[in-house]
Amino acid sequence: AAKNAGRNTWALYKHSMSVEIKHRMGLEADLRNALNSETGGLEVYYQPQVLFTENKNEALSVVGVEALVRWFHPEHGAIPPMDFIDIAESTGIIDELSSWVTRQACEDVVLWHKAGFDISLAVNLSPHQLNNRYLPDEIFQVLRDTGMAADKLTLEITESAAVQNTQTAVEMLDILNKRGISLAMDDFGTGYSNLGYLKSLPLDCLKIDRSFVTHIETNEEDRKLVRGIVNLARGMGLKVVAEGVETEHQVEFLRSLHCDVGQGYLFGRPMNKLKLVAMLERERAQANLWNELNDNED
Ligand code: C2E
Ligand code: MG
Ligand code: MG
Ligand code: MG
Repeated sequence: AAKNAGRNTWALYKHSMSVEIKHRMGLEADLRNALNSETGGLEVYYQPQVLFTENKNEALSVVGVEALVRWFHPEHGAIPPMDFIDIAESTGIIDELSSWVTRQACEDVVLWHKAGFDISLAVNLSPHQLNNRYLPDEIFQVLRDTGMAADKLTLEITESAAVQNTQTAVEMLDILNKRGISLAMDDFGTGYSNLGYLKSLPLDCLKIDRSFVTHIETNEEDRKLVRGIVNLARGMGLKVVAEGVETEHQVEFLRSLHCDVGQGYLFGRPMNKLKLVAMLERERAQANLWNELNDNED
């Protein structure tokens, strides 16, 4: 009986494994199709990045957006990036997916620039892309085609990508950086303790990982860590963006450290482009009203 049970467990395991593999292969094929069709359900969402002003009474202002891909699968519904980015990464589809996201996002942001909204755009680079030696050329091509300004574009890389960095990756990032494109370290502090890459990469910005920001209010150690990261960034002349800001209390603390920019649900979840434009317009109307009131005072 024990033998049978063992065999059944194995059969079950083999079965669920093949289901998993089939599922992944299905998603892989669907993702390839999605990239080649208008109706595949891929869409770029934008999450606002907000400038922390020194003056408490001043309204916070949206200075940038991060492009985050969304996939509304025709049958399975919304699939979170977590569940398909790694498939895209391991099959190499990520190169095509990322250039699609970058092109789409640049097109949108150029329109917003034309409408008078001076915002920057951050897009995520996956480790796989740093092995593609045509990456800089592909990005420059997107900038030319869309008319996007290089100095409004930030590429976000992760520590794992930075640590795997080869000489070519560093060279590519240098080429991009020399053309005015900024480089941010995403999820800073979650990857590796070896910070050597801070010397070799042309970084402009550290994004403090959400896991350190979330418990600022209750955890003294996290406050110390965040303070330490901001000081480190300051010392190296890097900008700091705090991820995952969800409460006013976190804003107060980050502001007291002179952290530059915040991103998180408090300011806005990733949203489609219509909602983002509505948010920018609302903010502009408020700023205009505020200026008028102040003009009338003196
Ligand atoms: P990320 O680049 O670190 O992006 C931030 C993630 O944190 C996003 O998750 C965002 O929705 C989430 N987030 C932002 N603020 C808050 C908050 O206040 N609270 C909480 N709980 N979460 C917050 P999302 O969109 O699910 O993306 C997950 C990851 O997938 C991204 O992490 C990024 O690594 C990857 N990803 C997303 N889009 C792309 C893409 O176009 N290309 C590449 N290569 N990777 C992407
Ligand atoms: Mg990111
Ligand atoms: Mg991040
Ligand atoms: Mg992350």
